[in-house]
Formats: sequence, C-alpha cells, structure tokens
Amino acid sequence: MSNFWDKQIARADYLAGESSGSKELLTFYAQLLRAQAEIYESFRSRKDWSPSGDLEVDLPVVRSTMSVLLESVARHGPVSLASEAQELLSVDPVIQAVQLFDYWRSPSDTQFFAKALLQPYVHWLAETRTPPVDRELAGGERTCPFCGGRPQLSFLQAKESTAESGNRDLLCATCLSSWEFRRVVCASCGEERPAKLGYFHSPEFDHIRIEACDSCKHYLKGIDLTRLGLAVPLVDEIYAAPLDLWAREHGYTKIELNLVGV
Ligand SMILES: [Zn+2]
Ligand SMILES: [Zn+2]
Repeated sequence: MSNFWDKQIARADYLAGESSGSKELLTFYAQLLRAQAEIYESFRSRKDWSPSGDLEVDLPVVRSTMSVLLESVARHGPVSLASEAQELLSVDPVIQAVQLFDYWRSPSDTQFFAKALLQPYVHWLAETRTPPVDRELAGGERTCPFCGGRPQLSFLQAKESTAESGNRDLLCATCLSSWEFRRVVCASCGEERPAKLGYFHSPEFDHIRIEACDSCKHYLKGIDLTRLGLAVPLVDEIYAAPLDLWAREHGYTKIELNLVGV
C-alpha cells in the first residue's frame, strides 16, 4: 500500500473522530479514500501492465476498478450518491466509459464518480511519470504542470525552496501532486495586488485560512503546515468545511470543489 493513501486515511479517521461540523463528510471521505487506495493498489500491483497515459488505451483496466468505488459509495455514501452508485452498478459499461472520457477531456468538479475514479489513475500516472495524453486543458502556471488539473488547495511548508515561491505550493485536484506557486498571487486569475487579495481565518481552524480574490471572486483554502505539521492538506481542507460557508456567504466561488462536494 502506498504511503500517500495511508497517510490520508489515517488523518481522515482521526479528524472524523473529533467533534466538528464536518464529521459526516470526513467519515464518508475516509471510506472513499479506502476505495481509492484499493484502486491505486490494483494498478500498482497489476502484473505485466504499466499505464500508457492514454485513457482510451488504459480504459479496460481503469473501468475494471469501477465497482470497487461504486460499491463503497453505495454502502457508505450520502443517500443521493448512494442510490446513484447503485444505479451505475447496473448501467451499460459503454455509458460508464462515456462519463470517464467526458471528464478526462473536460473535467468538472461536479462529476463525482469520474473524478473519484480517475484521481488514483492520474496519481499513478504522476508516480510513474507517464504524461496523460488527449487532454486539451488550459495550461499555464495556475494549472498542474503534470496533468493540467486545477488547484484544490494551497499549502505552506518549511522547506528549502526558492525565495520567490515563499514555500507555497498548490495541490492538484486531479493527480493530487503539487507544484510551487508564488505566495501572494490569486491561484485562479493571477491577481498580484495585495489590496485585492483577502484572507479569512477562524480560531477554530488555526492552521487553515480562506484565500480569496476580489478581482475574480474565487477562493481556495490554504493549509499552513508550519503551524500544524501533522496536518494532511487534502483531508484538513475538508475538515475546515465551515470556512467554505463563510466564503460562499461573502460571494466567493471555490476554484475547485473537493471530492465530497464542498
Ligand atoms: Zn495534476
Ligand atoms: Zn483572482
């Protein structure tokens, strides 16, 4: 089992046990992560197979893992997703494939099943340095240099780094790897004027803040690992779901919804 998934699962289990407004989300996310870890592991341990990066070619292998995800969501998901999973379990495989290709070519953070299934696949592509092909995405410094995905969150960590980035990284919502990014810049539109960039912080989440932009009205959350080294950005981002409420109430739109739809 990859260390990456273990770490996410352990943190989700831990935070789900803390009393907070996001207990249900984290309990579900912990189960999703288990399904994703199993899918990832099935790619990694598959004999005589390595991914091509072309979803059309890799589709039979990717689709063969879909039932792991669907069965987990049917069992542990919130009612509406669970019934959707139940339906998809009996749907024509061709329709399942069409959904995956739609997402591959034009990702959307509301296509839950395609995103949840392709995260471990593209993460495995990233780990094996197999560039994805046939994805016509925007590119540029505000999207993932590996797969073109949008940022899910930003995080600060103490590390040897160039002065320019100030140790800020963005984490990709699709392949879950990260890249260095300048510190005081909107991750959505590139706004650099400090007066246009706002931060919201609540004492309840000492190491997490909303990073919002008044030019494009987008936001994401920043996780500060120099304040809490135990934090796991992807999971702590969900833990701090109450902060999203504040952002929405103030008219900001999230750059990319997280997997549990917050
Ligand atoms: Zn990526
Ligand atoms: Zn902006």
